[in-house]
Amino acid sequence: MTGPHNGRVTSRDPAAALEPRLPSPLLPADDDRFTRRGLRLLLKRDDLVHPDLVGNKWRKLAPNLAAAAGRPVLTFGGAYSNHLRATAAAGRLLGFPTVGVVRGDELAGRPLNPSLERCAADGMRLVFVDRATYRAKDDPAVLARLLRDAPEGAVVVPEGGSNAAAVRGCAALGGELRGRADVVAVACGTGGTLAGLAAGLGPRQRALGVPVLRGGFLGDAVRDLQERAFGGPAGRWELDERFHFGGYARGGPALEEFAEDFGARHGLAVERVYVAKMLYALVTLAEEGAFAPGTTVAAVVTGRPEPAGGDPG
Ligand SMILES: *Cc1c(COP(=O)(O)O)cnc(C)c1O
Repeated sequence: MTGPHNGRVTSRDPAAALEPRLPSPLLPADDDRFTRRGLRLLLKRDDLVHPDLVGNKWRKLAPNLAAAAGRPVLTFGGAYSNHLRATAAAGRLLGFPTVGVVRGDELAGRPLNPSLERCAADGMRLVFVDRATYRAKDDPAVLARLLRDAPEGAVVVPEGGSNAAAVRGCAALGGELRGRADVVAVACGTGGTLAGLAAGLGPRQRALGVPVLRGGFLGDAVRDLQERAFGGPAGRWELDERFHFGGYARGGPALEEFAEDFGARHGLAVERVYVAKMLYALVTLAEEGAFAPGTTVAAVVTGRPEPAGGDPG
């Protein structure tokens, strides 16, 4: 498969064909809540890696697409999943079929929300399943049934794209930050990005994960992902579980006001589901005196707000 075909780009190296902007920019942010405590804040603009495969979704998908080598991809997500949108966009750009298994069979009879609309417009076949089936998606019998209705030879990528290959892909994010900051903060859903980031950082750096879901399960998830990706623990990382704001896609006026203000200060459209909570956590920690003067803190901007209005996932 070479050359343009029906306006699509096809290539043996999907990562290169997608033309990511790497390394992503690392920009100083002048913020008095940090400077008055002798801290430096940097923004790692992973939201600029690719217009359609945003931020950590590019880093996690690229190695999976390389492994799939043009075969169809079947993957999973919620109704506003950033990962589903990124996968669908990759399918359109690279010319392979995609199937998105969506949590919630009640969605099947309704008009698509803007996020799923985009997936469908990019050619993704959407399969709506009830919540019990979705929870059981790793069960071989359930997976076999889903694959029976998928295109021949489909490759399965897990929810959120977080598998061993994805975690190794995110180690490159840490590599880009080596020697550039003391602490690197990232928002966590599945924890795949944190697992890889921590592994890629230098020995004197540490990663700080801010879970956006409640539940306290993330530490085990990160350890498990590192075990599968690297054969054991890798790098220094910790979690601060105080900033989920009630759970996934929840927030409230305080978070909203914070995100508006941060955006105005730094000319950055702050994604609300993940990035806003991580930035809120960093400002709170700075104000609590959690960082010693002289510390450089890098905040990974993993995504951007959706222009269509749907909250991502
Ligand atoms: C998916 C996503 C995350 C979470 O990544 P995980 O690897 O699942 O922890 C963080 N930020 C944004 C913007 C995302 O879309």
